[in-house]
Amino acid sequence: MFKIGCHLSSSKGYQNMAEEAHRIGANTFQFFTRNPRGGSAKAIDENDIAEFQKLAQEYGIEVILAHAPYTLNCCSDKPEVREFAINIMKDDLKRMEYTPNQLYNFHPGSHVGQGIETGIEYIIDALNMVLTAEQSTTVLLETMAGKGSEIGSQFEEIRQIIDGVKLQDKLGVCLDTCHVSDAGYDIVNNLNGVLEEFDKIIGFNRLKAIHLNDSMNPLGAHKDRHQKIGEGTLGIQTFEEIINHPSLKNLPFFLETPNELEGYEKEIAILKKLYV
Ligand code: FE
Ligand code: FE
Ligand code: ZN
Repeated sequence: MFKIGCHLSSSKGYQNMAEEAHRIGANTFQFFTRNPRGGSAKAIDENDIAEFQKLAQEYGIEVILAHAPYTLNCCSDKPEVREFAINIMKDDLKRMEYTPNQLYNFHPGSHVGQGIETGIEYIIDALNMVLTAEQSTTVLLETMAGKGSEIGSQFEEIRQIIDGVKLQDKLGVCLDTCHVSDAGYDIVNNLNGVLEEFDKIIGFNRLKAIHLNDSMNPLGAHKDRHQKIGEGTLGIQTFEEIINHPSLKNLPFFLETPNELEGYEKEIAILKKLYV
């Protein structure tokens, strides 16, 4: 089954997201756990969750992906910024247990001049403080564009982070198509080669989700500007290959393109036609 969805607003709760997803032809979705700037989260409404679980059954929603606030930085040079990120992630993971066995994605962070090695150490420390043996949620490291001092644009960096974490079975990876292209991986001309490299360095067993975004910028630009599907430098053919690739086709795909709901609905319809 083709698992396709997009980023939705979580402001009206889980039930509303299920309804919205279903309305636009999606059977999965991504959402921010709280204000993307990292403010306090709305209390979990257990009724809303119960209604959501019913709808999810009815609509065939098996996977949902929560996204941590993108302003968190686990590897800041400021201790209070690192501590803030850790506290938010701990709280998010507690909330995730209301919808067990789902996915939680975060940006590894920016080392802000301290160097990649120091940054990676802080990210490992954070994950070792946040992850618990009891959690049912898989925490995903997102592949990044390498904008500024972002960590996680190279597969080797992600490997190094995983290697330092104690509870590795709680970890996965979310591959963002705009980000990997921006990072210098040529998925337009050499998708197979890039995926082989991913498998060799990180391992396909870690790959749990794909962010489907076209890019406004050329290969290796390190800019992180998403474009609508087929309207950027990746092009529609690349997306056709990605969603049908034997190693990817059973993963959940999430659009984070510059769209409102109608735009997402159109892109989902286009991708469904291309999925064989
Ligand atoms: Fe992201
Ligand atoms: Fe992304
Ligand atoms: Zn991005």
